[in-house]
Amino acid sequence: MIPAPFDYIRPTSLEEACRVLAEADSSGEDVKVLAGGQSLLPLLRLRLAYPSALVDLGRLAELRGVEDRDDHVFIGALTTHDEVLRSPVVRERTPLVALATATVADPAVRHRGTFGGSMAHADPAGDLPAVALALDCVFVVRSGEGEREIPAAEFFVDYLESALEPGEVLLGVRVPKLGPGWGFHYEKFHRTAQAWAIVGVAAAVRRDGGIIGEARIALTNMGPTPVRARAVEDALRGLSSAPTGGDGAQPAGGDGAHDPVRDACGQADSGTSPPADLHAKPDYRRHLARVLTHRAVRAASG
Ligand code: FAD
Repeated sequence: MIPAPFDYIRPTSLEEACRVLAEADSSGEDVKVLAGGQSLLPLLRLRLAYPSALVDLGRLAELRGVEDRDDHVFIGALTTHDEVLRSPVVRERTPLVALATATVADPAVRHRGTFGGSMAHADPAGDLPAVALALDCVFVVRSGEGEREIPAAEFFVDYLESALEPGEVLLGVRVPKLGPGWGFHYEKFHRTAQAWAIVGVAAAVRRDGGIIGEARIALTNMGPTPVRARAVEDALRGLSSAPTGGDGAQPAGGDGAHDPVRDACGQADSGTSPPADLHAKPDYRRHLARVLTHRAVRAASG
């Protein structure tokens, strides 16, 4: 449980951080960015990662904080989960982020772990990547060569692999504000409170009158990356948003009454490749995805 030796660099400006990372990249060194350390340090201690140096972003105040901008909320990469939860802007302007963040780990982890670290780590069991995918967030990234933006749909590449190139720092995430008529929910199934998701569902639903006008749904831990449940989104469009009862596990109303929303959510596992682990087999995860999606959609549209 002792990491391999590494150099420790603590830049005082973003320019310095980018320069250090660019130099390391050009000399072929394996240098890692350190944010809250909640995911990276366990990997170092288990020697699953052994970078030659860590570049600690902790002093870069410009990467921390939440801003209410015209059509989006900008969440700085170094903003901790706790700061996200305490932000009135997040709670009021992008409640799905607040709902999901409240389920992340325990208070100790939430005080150290960062919004950007959760995204950059690209763990499909993490709660926030699915939220970013459902909301079509945009990732703002800087390297020695300048700034670029990466849409959420392209950011999560594979298991623990994001679209960040060596030498790039995630500055923050643009979370689009969704207008009137939208409802939100994050449904997480975990073994114990404060544990990782066995399966999670992020849902945003827009009601036009009594009809579902648009739905955005993304799944946690149903494949090597978070997955958008496009089949459900398509099937929900135009359905009545009025509840017909049932939680998705049983036929609506318990009497076999037909519930088109539940039928639509029955496609939640379509196109997924859920993992098998100590907690669940793939078939069980598929069942959970269908049931939890129905619950999330009902809560978001109710
Ligand atoms: P670090 O550990 O510092 O970094 C993680 C990775 O991201 C590293 O590869 C690092 O190089 C990279 N990185 C970090 N910041 C940047 C940046 N700005 N630019 C470029 N690369 C960057 N998460 C959940 O979603 N749900 C849970 O239920 C949950 N439970 C947890 C329980 C425990 C006990 C622990 C220890 C963690 C848990 N987590 C959970 C993870 C937690 O949310 C971490 O905050 C998150 O995974 C990583 O954030 P960090 O700031 O600690 O990143």
